[in-house]
This record gives sequence, structure tokens and C-alpha cells, in this order.
Amino acid sequence: MRAVLVPAYVAAALVAALYAVLSWRRHAKSLALITSGAALWSLAQAFATAASPTVALAGTYAMFPGVAMLVAGFHWHITVFTGYGLDRLRRWHALLLIHPVLLTAAVATDPWHHAFFSSVVSHPDGGVTPHFGPLYWLHTAYSYTLIATGMARAVAAMRRAVRGHRRVFLLFLVGGFAPAVGNLVSIFLLTNDRQVDLTPILFLVTASMWWWAERSGTPARQTPVSYKQVIAALRDAVMVLDADGRFLDVNPAAVDLLAVLRGSDGGVVGQCWQDVLGPRLTSAFTGVDQQTVASADGRIYDVRVVRMSPESGGGAGTVVVVRDVTELERLRAELTDQAVRDGLTGVYNRRHLTTVLREQVAAGHPLAAVMIDVDHFKAVNDTYGHAVGDEVLIRLARELGDAVGAAGTLARYGGEEFAVLLPGAGARTAAEMAAQCRQRCSEIVVATPLGPLRVTFSAGVAQLEAGESAEDLLRRADRALYTAKEQGRDRVVTDEPDRLPAATA
Ligand code: GH3
Ligand code: MG
Ligand code: MG
Repeated sequence: MRAVLVPAYVAAALVAALYAVLSWRRHAKSLALITSGAALWSLAQAFATAASPTVALAGTYAMFPGVAMLVAGFHWHITVFTGYGLDRLRRWHALLLIHPVLLTAAVATDPWHHAFFSSVVSHPDGGVTPHFGPLYWLHTAYSYTLIATGMARAVAAMRRAVRGHRRVFLLFLVGGFAPAVGNLVSIFLLTNDRQVDLTPILFLVTASMWWWAERSGTPARQTPVSYKQVIAALRDAVMVLDADGRFLDVNPAAVDLLAVLRGSDGGVVGQCWQDVLGPRLTSAFTGVDQQTVASADGRIYDVRVVRMSPESGGGAGTVVVVRDVTELERLRAELTDQAVRDGLTGVYNRRHLTTVLREQVAAGHPLAAVMIDVDHFKAVNDTYGHAVGDEVLIRLARELGDAVGAAGTLARYGGEEFAVLLPGAGARTAAEMAAQCRQRCSEIVVATPLGPLRVTFSAGVAQLEAGESAEDLLRRADRALYTAKEQGRDRVVTDEPDRLPAATA
């Protein structure tokens, strides 16, 4: 048995000592204390199996300073690791020295008072079996109270930790429990099999698991993060309400938001949210899972309501998450507007016109369409350059926009073509409006390096016939436009399906 035990204890002592050195170098003092204690304990355990009763007894006594270091280090490490009771430890850390000092004194003087080991049986083939006295049990009770408290703290910390941190706590707990279980088994089950104490060897499990925890990128000394911290760090306002709508908790962002909404920053916990937010916001916040709400000062909030049911664990209640989306909404509105507008002239684009036209046709209301095409525009570009051509288009669009106003929808249909939809208008009204536009546009004078420039346009008008499609309406307006061009340009022509097209110059 000794042939196996001694190398195992020595190996455990060496590994623990190595770990102690590494921990010390990495400024992990509590880990260094634990592993030093384990190294001392393992080494003493190797001597405790010696053939000489004196050496075996000395080894048995020599374990206990190591044990005391281990217990103190364990408590220190867990306190730092979990953050529980850290303030107290900082103030009272000297108290942790009492146990090692008293324990060392107790074992050193035991041959005289036998209060630690009441008697010791030596074995001819090596080792001793001690019978435990009251001081031993006192020491054991103290040690386990400290270790059990620490473990309970680690379990509590694991429960409140974010998921990513739980694994570190789990590794920590398994690592911590292994020697404790080995020690209990050794004390209560293996006392007759002299000097077989698994604790120091099992301590290698602790060392490996904590080493692993460090290597896996979440060092044990890293401060654990709780859900509360995460919620507090969020810039979204998070409010927790109970089943009756009373505030249970609010994060700092919610405190700020409520202060803005209410105009005061008094506490809200315990108050009913209807009383806090007022009827307008309350009605907007209830009933729907997601809503965009505008406040009185024009800010826009995205409000998400998540209901917690008791079945999902914990109590029933509601979590309301509010985000200020004013800027986002402004950008979204800008992008939406850009998507329907022509980049050069700012009037609607062809896609938007098609959408509106389809809607109008589907509604079956009276509708007239006007297609407008600038005359000899290619010549404008060729003579004055594209920049002047662009300026002409911009000026025309502005004039057309002013003329159409809210009566219809103006769009740039193509290069130098515009289209106007006039809901509720017949062909005559539309032709009159087009003629007015033609007049106004022909008066535009664009200053160019080559002198003032005027342009004219031709227009084709069509009125929606019963059962006609959007495409057919535009085709007829285009046909009228073609006729206007053919008739000499600078005129408006109405397409009349049952009659020959008539010119209104
Ligand atoms: P017509 O009287 O028969 O309509 O003659 P036109 O020269 O206007 O006819 P055409 O369709 O051949 O010419 C249209 C010109 O419009 C050709 C193209 O270079 C020009 N154009 C199209 N889009 C733009 C633009 O955004 N800016 C400028 N400057 N020119 C454009
Ligand atoms: Mg054209
Ligand atoms: Mg043209």
C-alpha cells in the first residue's frame, strides 16, 4: 500500500507546489495559499505512512498547518470569487489567521494534553491510526462550516450569474467539492485503513479544474456578472411590473425616462403605472406587445411589453422595455421618402406613380392622367450641356409641382418625361390644367452662358374609362402625347377613345 501511496502523495505535493508558484506569480494569492496548504498536507501525508512510529506521528501532526492554510485560503478565494462578504473580509481578514495559529498550537502540544488525538495506534508495517479528540472535532466543525458557507455562496452566485459565467462557477464547485467529499469519506469510512486520506490527491482534481477554468478564457478571478448588472447597464429603459401593474423594479435608464415623461424624478417602485404614466401613455402601453408611441414633446419611443407567466418560473408580471427611437424614426422616414422620390428633381419617381395609379384604378374612382415630354430636349443638352439640361428639368419640375399642388400626383416618369395623375378629374379638367402648366413652363427662362433659354413641352391627356387598366390609361395618354408631337409640339392633346384625338393648343 505504501508503495502506491507515497509516490501519489509526493506527486500531489509537487503538482500543488507547482500550482502554488504559478498562482503566486499571477498574483492569485488566495489560490497560492490553498495550493501551498495542499502541498504541505500531501507531503506530510507521505511521512505519515512511514515505518517509524515517531516519523509517522510527526507527519500526521504536520498535516494540520497545511489543512488550516487550505481552509483559510478556500474561504478567502470564494469570498473574492463570488463577491459575497468581500467588505467584511477586507475589514476582518486577520480573523482568518486565528484557526491556523490555534490549530498549529493544538497539534504541537498534543503529546501533552491529547485533546486533539486522544490516542494513536502505531502499526508495525508503517503508519499510525489516530483516535480523534475534542479539539480535532472542533477544528473539523469549524473547517466544514467555513467550507459549506463558501460553497453555498458559490451556488447562490451561480444562480444569479449570467449564463456565460455559470460554467465557471460549476467548474469551481465541482473542483471545490471533490477534496471535501474525499475528506469526509476518509474521516468517516476509511479510518481503519490507516493513513489512506484521499483529500490531498483529490486536490489535484481541484487544481486541474480551476486551471481549466482559467485556461478556458474565463479566469476564476474575473468578476462575475449578474443579471442585475446587465439590466442596469442597458441603455434601454427596463421596467418590471407585478401582476397588478405596480412597479417592482426599474433600471437607471428607466428612472431617467420616467423623469422626462413625468417631469419629476421621484421613486416609482410600488406605484401603479397608470398613476405614473398618465392615461395617454398607459393606454398606448397596454394590450399590445410592440408599439411605437410619441410623447408630448415629440419624441418617439418603441415600447415592448413581455408578459411573464408563473409557469415560466418565478412570479407573474410584465417587463416593459422602452427605447428612444426618435433619431431612428427620422432616418427611416427620410429613407422611405427617398425611396419614392426622384433624385434630381425631388418629385415622385415612376415606381411611386405606378403604385398610386394602381390603387386609384382599383378604387374605380374618376381619374385622369397627363403625360408630359419636353420638346427638343436632346438639342438643349447638345447645345447648352447636360448641367443646363438638368437645371431645366429641376425648374420644370418645380413649376409643375406648384401647378398640380395637392390636386394630384406629379412624377418624373423618365428622362425628360413627367406624368400627372389627377384623381376625381375628367379629361377636360386635366387638359385645362395641362394647358395652364404648358403656359407657365413656357415662361421659364433659364440663364445660360449662351444666353437665356426657354423650353416648351407637349402633353397627352387621357381619362380613365370604365373597366380600363392602369397600363391602358397610360398607353392612351402616351398616344395623345405622340399626337401632340406629331402636330408640331408645344401643345396638349386629349385622347378620346370614341372619337379622333382633338388638339387644344
Ligand atoms: P422630342 O421633342 O421629340 O421629345 O425631342 P427630344 O430631343 O426631347 O427627344 P429624345 O427623347 O430623343 O431626347 C430626350 C433627351 O433627354 C435624351 C437624353 O440625353 C436627355 N435626358 C434624359 N434624362 C436626362 C437627364 O436627367 N438630364 C439631362 N440633362 N438630360 C437627360
Ligand atoms: Mg422623351
Ligand atoms: Mg422630348
